[in-house]
Amino acid sequence: MKVLANDGIAPSGQKKLEENGFTVVTETVPQENLIQEINDKQYEVLLVRSATKVRKDLIDSCPSLKMIGRGGVGMDNIDVEYAREKGIVVFNTPASSSLAVAELVMSHLFDLARSVHDANRQMPVKGDKEFKKLKKQYGKGVELRGKTLGIIGFGRIGQYTAKYALGVGMNVIAYDPFMEKAIIPIEIAGQTLSVEIKTTSLEEVLKNSDFITLHVPMPADGKALIGEKEFNLMKDGVRIVNAARGGVINEDALIEALKSGKVKAAALDVFVNEPTPREDILTHPKIALTPHIGAATVEAQDRIGTELADNIISFYKK
Ligand code: NAD
Repeated sequence: MKVLANDGIAPSGQKKLEENGFTVVTETVPQENLIQEINDKQYEVLLVRSATKVRKDLIDSCPSLKMIGRGGVGMDNIDVEYAREKGIVVFNTPASSSLAVAELVMSHLFDLARSVHDANRQMPVKGDKEFKKLKKQYGKGVELRGKTLGIIGFGRIGQYTAKYALGVGMNVIAYDPFMEKAIIPIEIAGQTLSVEIKTTSLEEVLKNSDFITLHVPMPADGKALIGEKEFNLMKDGVRIVNAARGGVINEDALIEALKSGKVKAAALDVFVNEPTPREDILTHPKIALTPHIGAATVEAQDRIGTELADNIISFYKK
């Protein structure tokens, strides 16, 4: 039983698979050689993250494949329905990384509140000669405590983010057309406090939030959820984080909203043109950037690796 983990797998998952008799190869085969390699080595399981594409041609050309596993959430790099029609089991590990993404969002919220990202860019260049000027420039930060965080998309990551935000004393409001309310358990010093959050309309969230964070899937029609109309409804000086999918925010509209001052600052972990985001986004002083690392903590990768291995082992035990 051979497993090709083409975008890697955490040691926890590899070890578990090997202990259960699987051969696990973690070298990355370039996309153009993948079909040949799967057929040459007769791999039965292909594991990917977001880099490797598993399209119809690969599915049709690799009859040895029995399982395709995606370490992480979004499966837009896999022709899922087509593979399932062909009898291949396709699975992902949706819950393993929610906490990691929520923590990255919190770090971006703290950053945006104080312009840490831009101060970090300027200090090495001007910190010795223009210290006082920089101190003035970055000295008008705000605090998170007491501010309202609007969460758009109140599923796994949205709810984890709520937990952290409530923990630092933010008010949380949320919009999710498929979720009426959620109970958020907050564990503090061995005690658990449960907070119920009822979702409200998108308009309410846009109008009343000091900070906004997005945790929705990419809309099926490919249209951005946040564009000019939605920016216009927001509070002046709102700060916004997107760690969902690049196209969820219209990047042209974001640049305009930053220019007009409607949006004070933005943080992006995801981009329309990954892996080559546009230059005006990358160099914008009011945009904090991370290269799609929301799920990429050691702990989350460990959980993902174990979940992948458990899925494969239980499939072969059946
Ligand atoms: P989830 O399915 O648990 O939650 C998504 C929620 O969005 C659901 O509750 C759904 O009802 C809601 N929703 C759907 N359409 C909506 C709309 N138009 N408006 C408002 N809400 C809507 O998913 P999740 O695990 O919380 O993941 C959320 C997003 O985060 C996904 O887009 C995923 O791809 C992304 N993600 C990013 C990273 C990263 O590294 N940055 C890592 C993992 C997941």
